[in-house]
Amino acid sequence: MRSGGEIVYVAVGANLGDREATFGRAIDALERSAQILLLAASPVFETDPVGPPDQGAYLNAVVALRTWLSPHELLAQLQAIEAELGRDRGREALRWGPRTIDLDLLFYGERCIETPELVVPHPRAHERAFVLRPLAEIAPRYVHPRLGRTIRELVLALAGREGVRPFRSPSGWPGGALSIEVGSASFER
Ligand code: ADP
Ligand code: MG
Repeated sequence: MRSGGEIVYVAVGANLGDREATFGRAIDALERSAQILLLAASPVFETDPVGPPDQGAYLNAVVALRTWLSPHELLAQLQAIEAELGRDRGREALRWGPRTIDLDLLFYGERCIETPELVVPHPRAHERAFVLRPLAEIAPRYVHPRLGRTIRELVLALAGREGVRPFRSPSGWPGGALSIEVGSASFER
């Protein structure tokens, strides 16, 4: 197997259109990249929206990837997939407003990055139940590089976890661990 690269976690969200089909297409698009290996996918959850009113519920999940892209290259790739799957940044520009697909880079190895286009760890990841609930299913012992606390600790500390409900697995959405890398020290189911 190809060596090197970094393990990264990406949050997937959708609340417009055929959300389940979008989730399947997002997996296809990620797997198509030669520089990305899909390691695991969390179960899918449904979440009441935060932000502007009159939005539909979100589907949310987190995937673990191994990538040979730099953080900025990966962000560009995620934004290209958003565009391909129909996200219109003009029409859907409202902050925290409805979107066909949202792919957020949560963690890139242990790296801390602060540039105008990219902040990693994602600055709101640790306070969002719809991120931490699914993340805790695939990486409970991952330590937040800024906060020094595990995902398990962060999710237990969180109020409002009830707003995040288990949802059926969309067709095309993989279940659980996908790679023989699972079981390595830096990754667990
Ligand atoms: P949000 O996901 O916060 O609702 P967007 O998906 O529209 O909003 O992203 C807004 C901007 O956030 C993007 O243009 C991107 O450059 C920036 N950004 C900064 N850090 C990250 C990150 N870790 N993951 C994804 N986007 C990020
Ligand atoms: Mg985003």
